Amino acid sequence: MINCIFCKIINGELPAAFVYKDSEMVAFADINPKAPVHILVVPVIHFESLRDVDSRHEKILGKMMVKVKEIAEKQGISDGGYKIIINNGKGVGQLVFHLHVHILGGWKKSPGWQV
Ligand code: 5GP
Ligand code: ZN
Repeated sequence: MINCIFCKIINGELPAAFVYKDSEMVAFADINPKAPVHILVVPVIHFESLRDVDSRHEKILGKMMVKVKEIAEKQGISDGGYKIIINNGKGVGQLVFHLHVHILGGWKKSPGWQV
């Protein structure tokens, strides 16, 4: 998708600190982290948010959840616990309109906020 920051990162047009990459999805560090460890998990296929998914996306969405678990373990934040967030729409603060899962963790104490 033209002018999509995350498509440009996936295509290699923009740099990112990747922690995982395959033909269907990538994961990289958030440029403006809101937790000691803040990773974004992003499907290669461009769709704006969960509001745009349908049954064709079941496989990639399921795979992303399994990779979230594996990435959290590799990042060393699994034992301490971690949050995942998907913002869907401008009204809740979505800034980049290419679906992504935030993984947030690594706090020494409680993050001080709860959903
Ligand atoms: P959203 O609010 O759309 O759910 O989150 C977008 C996230 O993408 C934000 O946490 C923001 O810091 C991150 N972000 C925006 N631009 C870039 C970028 O160019 N590179 C990386 N690595 N993260 C970005
Ligand atoms: Zn995109």
